[in-house]
Amino acid sequence: PSQRTRKPDWIRVKAPTSPGYAETRKLMRELNLNTVCEEAACPNIGECWTKKHATVMILGDTCTRACAFCNVKTGMPRAVDPLEPEHTAIAAAKMGLSHIVITSVDRDDLPDGGASQFVKVINALRRETPQTTIEILTPDFRNKPESAIAAIVDARPDVYNHNLETVPRLYPTIRPGARYYASLRLLESVKRRDPSIFTKSGIMLGLGEQRMEVHQVMDDMRSADIDFMTMGQYLQPTPKHAKVIDFVTPQAFDAYAQIARAKGFLQVASSPLTRSSYHAGDDFERMRAA
Ligand code: SF4
Ligand code: SF4
Repeated sequence: PSQRTRKPDWIRVKAPTSPGYAETRKLMRELNLNTVCEEAACPNIGECWTKKHATVMILGDTCTRACAFCNVKTGMPRAVDPLEPEHTAIAAAKMGLSHIVITSVDRDDLPDGGASQFVKVINALRRETPQTTIEILTPDFRNKPESAIAAIVDARPDVYNHNLETVPRLYPTIRPGARYYASLRLLESVKRRDPSIFTKSGIMLGLGEQRMEVHQVMDDMRSADIDFMTMGQYLQPTPKHAKVIDFVTPQAFDAYAQIARAKGFLQVASSPLTRSSYHAGDDFERMRAA
């Protein structure tokens, strides 16, 4: 690797260890659930699981899309597991999660894109573990965005997250199945339908975006009334995936965070190891306390 793209010291991927790690893994296997924390070999797993935050990936482990940055398997997914909502709720209750992030693969093969499964998971969580706050991180529901959003928003998650992932110029190579403005509109319509739900979005840095383009994304997000923003360093999962163009320094992440705060976001998380779901529960707690 070149000087610019060799992993710098500030990217330290820690071994996934935490007191309850093995136990939680076992629980997830028993309930036939997938977590992004494990699938993505997330460097924050020790910290998050100890703090009772986790991200469950519903609707299977196979995605109908193939984004250039993502390590999730692509292909024809299996049938939806009807027990998944209940199992997710049982896992959250057993782990004593204070905050859960629910995300999914893209299911362009399903008529509703999987929206009804999100609704069932939210309802099951509310029933089994009413004290757990719920954040959902959804696909763009390309085929039926309006009805999917209406159904999910009416189930009242605490936070609705959908990532823009990168600047619009890089969509054709990085996020080819999606449209930048469609994703922005999705978040805007969540807020319009229920202003009490916090909306959230994020981008990865290091894919070749320019500073002014990042600032423009922030402005676009604020125009869509997005409340929380996340920025983290893109890391190439395998040599087949998009290359890291550069490693953004921690100082540059801080500078972006300052600009984002000045633009009016309620919460900004910006650091090399920030992930969409990193410290998600803390952000929400802080908002509720404010
Ligand atoms: Fe899981 Fe997100 Fe924490 Fe990573 S940052 S361990 S994916 S909750
Ligand atoms: Fe990965 Fe989501 Fe893209 Fe599927 S749609 S490849 S899960 S980022």
